[in-house]
Amino acid sequence: MEHVAVSPWVALAYLVSGVLFILALRGLSSPATSRAGNRYGMIGMTIAVVTTLLTHFPMVPLAPKPGSFCIDSCGQLPDWIAAGEIFAAIAIGGAIGFVIARKIAMTDMPQLVAAFHSLVGLAAVLVGLAAYLNPDAFGIMLPDGQINPVSRIELGLGIAIGAITFSGSVIAFLKLAGKMSGSPILLPGRHVLNLGTLIAIIGLVAYFTQDQSAWVIATITVLSFIIGFLLIIPIGGADMPVVVSMLNSYSGWAAAAMGFTLHNTAMIVTGALVGSSGAILSYIMCKAMNRGFLAVIAGGFGAEASAAGGAAREQRPWKRGSAEDAAYMMKEAENVIIIPGYGMAVSQAQHALREMGDVLKKEGVNVKYAIHPVAGRMPGHMNVLLAEANVPYDEVFELEDINSEFAQADVAFIIGANDVVNPAAKTDKSSPIYGMPVFDVDKAKTIFFVKRSMGGVGYAGVDNDVFYMDQTMMLLADAKKMVEDIVKALQH
Ligand code: NDP
Repeated sequence: MEHVAVSPWVALAYLVSGVLFILALRGLSSPATSRAGNRYGMIGMTIAVVTTLLTHFPMVPLAPKPGSFCIDSCGQLPDWIAAGEIFAAIAIGGAIGFVIARKIAMTDMPQLVAAFHSLVGLAAVLVGLAAYLNPDAFGIMLPDGQINPVSRIELGLGIAIGAITFSGSVIAFLKLAGKMSGSPILLPGRHVLNLGTLIAIIGLVAYFTQDQSAWVIATITVLSFIIGFLLIIPIGGADMPVVVSMLNSYSGWAAAAMGFTLHNTAMIVTGALVGSSGAILSYIMCKAMNRGFLAVIAGGFGAEASAAGGAAREQRPWKRGSAEDAAYMMKEAENVIIIPGYGMAVSQAQHALREMGDVLKKEGVNVKYAIHPVAGRMPGHMNVLLAEANVPYDEVFELEDINSEFAQADVAFIIGANDVVNPAAKTDKSSPIYGMPVFDVDKAKTIFFVKRSMGGVGYAGVDNDVFYMDQTMMLLADAKKMVEDIVKALQH
């Protein structure tokens, strides 16, 4: 039987990069170790890329055994033209990535991540189609000129997952960038449509093992692009965090599928790590949102309630506070809990906020930061910003660890957060955020709510009863400006 010749050195290098990726994931699980985690990931990726490139040159002893075939040009002179193309592609892609990374605002990261996921999906589709069109070059052709049936399954699945990732990520990008309404778009009979399309794709992948005609692979590709679109449009509002992590997972599986097509172990391992960690993150996000995992990935099961949300805004009395009010009350307080949200990221108020925390601590106030799992616009968004501002990790608490402490808090200082403190999630069944656990800020003695205007709503687009509570004072201003004014007032 034919087998792919892989040098033990190549296998060892891939093993080392795989171990480094696992260490990277482990490091990224805590803000304290995340920098080291990133470094492990970068070293692992460098080893994997360099090893893959070197396998295209005869300096690595690939030593094919008789009867085996080589995945690359082992034993032959290097294909310098192909090498030139590879380096040109790396240079162009790297330059584009470098410029985007330098220019991108932190608040635009979620849509950038979605855009990058779409590229992984598209790459998987293109690699799959290239392998279909030129199976000999990919070592998947049998002597009779047919594609190996096992490879056909890999190809079909790889193209399907890639296409779903691509179109799903494009929709997520448009929703997160605000270029398309974030509300769920609910097509009539969508569950039947989705299920039917998925069954058709699986059936066609099975049929592809018997018939490798172009129409089969073309139909798989088109249907998969369509299902990616159909699966993401009904998910909206507060369920978007799950979409972000789910597409992250899909992009991992798409990369793993590419790894099978390219016979690249490192890619299979990396793709599987990304795929499974993304799936675990989606599960955690679903739990945080109190949503059923299957319900969300099936494309907005239960989204009817969301669609009904966004009730008309009422005119109710509310109290306006000033930076001086907030400074006075917090200076006198024993316990202050700060709840940051997306608006803090928009105004980049984290440094000023840390300064405010430092001043309060000097005054003997016990300051804690409460982080909701879906605060901001991407998983871990608030943790990253607070870490960037050197907020001590032991002052930062997750929802379940701090929620019981609001009853003892003198002040709940809400800065740019909205949905994550909205009590409608507990009481209003028609609300798009119903069921999501939220901070019990209403139990605090005083609430300061920093946002720019009474008109602005959170991501889910719903009114918030906290604005109108007796103990609430609205601090209407840009978050950074307001916190800077509070710091000034505290210092004088
Ligand atoms: P929200 O989106 O609910 O609220 C943001 C608040 O910030 C608004 O009240 C807005 O009011 C205010 N704001 C915006 N800019 C400023 C500014 N410059 N200064 C002061 N305030 C500002 O944020 P949350 O973090 O509470 O909730 C996150 C929401 O995003 C959830 O619904 C979540 O499901 C969703 N989401 C989360 C993702 C994730 O992975 N974490 C991904 C996608 C969606 P105003 O305009 O009046 O200033």
